Amino acid sequence: MGASREVGRSAFLINEQVLLDFGIKPTDPPQYPQGNPRPETVVISHGHLDHCGVVPNLMDMEPTVLATPPTKHLTRLLAEDTLEIAENHGGMVPFDPHDMQMLMRKTIELDYLEDYTTDDYSITLFDAGHIPGSALTYVEYGEDTLLYTGDIKNSDTRLLKGSKIHYPESRALMIESTYYGRDHVDRKKLEERFIESIRYTLDIGGNVVIPCFAIGRTQEVLMILKEYGISCYVDGMGVEVTKIMLKDPQYLRDPNRLKTAFGAATTVKPGMRRAVLDEPSVVVTTAGMLNGGPVLYYLQRMYDDPKSKLMLTGYQVENTNGRNALENGYVDIDGEIFPLRCKLEQYSFSAHSGDSELKDIVRYMCDRGTEHVFCVHGDKTEEFAGWVEKEIGVKAYAPKIGEEYLI
Ligand SMILES: [Zn+2]
Repeated sequence: MGASREVGRSAFLINEQVLLDFGIKPTDPPQYPQGNPRPETVVISHGHLDHCGVVPNLMDMEPTVLATPPTKHLTRLLAEDTLEIAENHGGMVPFDPHDMQMLMRKTIELDYLEDYTTDDYSITLFDAGHIPGSALTYVEYGEDTLLYTGDIKNSDTRLLKGSKIHYPESRALMIESTYYGRDHVDRKKLEERFIESIRYTLDIGGNVVIPCFAIGRTQEVLMILKEYGISCYVDGMGVEVTKIMLKDPQYLRDPNRLKTAFGAATTVKPGMRRAVLDEPSVVVTTAGMLNGGPVLYYLQRMYDDPKSKLMLTGYQVENTNGRNALENGYVDIDGEIFPLRCKLEQYSFSAHSGDSELKDIVRYMCDRGTEHVFCVHGDKTEEFAGWVEKEIGVKAYAPKIGEEYLI
């Protein structure tokens, strides 16, 4: 129903019973999954808007919702934020507060390696290493099995341990494809380049604005800055998210380091924002794709200052301000165009597996009997499916939205 030949609005329905994710695509206006599923069980792979964003609007059917504890808390936070944005800025609200209460009531917390079993099927989650609480979903209908990666990261970051490739045998594999065809640069080198660039900007008297996704990237960047002794401000939803993550410390690689990094950053309170850029400073703020949040305030202050620098830290979806900044050199804030004269850089502090890791997962699974590979959640799913068929010799698909497969 989504994330098919695109990134965003993940939603996959299995046997009309089990719905894997139900997210939005963060364009303006946002796009929703297509179709009206009536699942009895919804599994949320992780607490990112493009995977969990519209789960609350399934609540009139009262499905059971499965999520790890951090995913449950993040889903609630994002839903509250969606309601608040709609209240303050108008626009369509896909659900109401009653749906949210129902969501919290109907959510069963499922930990990694625990089973949820019904008469027809059984569901198990595995650590996906993408953000705290992120999971791969393994669905068993007797002999018919499917492993869905959700978003996955197989190598370590400062925030999390990478997902270990030791997944159960499965007839079908549904794998994300975000970085198919691209490998990440060495993390250490990337960090060093990032820090060097920040130091240079501060030295010449500029400001550094680092837009970060609230969930995952803000924490990762705070930990990097702390490690290299760079003081910073932190503003926006990432503050609340960090507090939530620290409540479930067992899902973090090193909770104390995150706590220290967060404690070292100066939290920007409303009313304090104006003073932040008065002298050379570093601000870590939301939204990561420049589609709202305090980053827009900072941008309006520094967009035409050639000494200052905007440092993107992740993937920029099509039709977002972030993608526009990269491709066309401007951002659009409430209909007003701001041509960027500040420096613009992009760093891939990705929480997704790179090309070779994705291929490793496919090889591992196909060596153990996987017969069908579905490539989803990417701009190059057709190429990925082509690679699987050619190099591995296993049937592979790049589904389009609305297509049904019988396996
Ligand atoms: Zn994600």
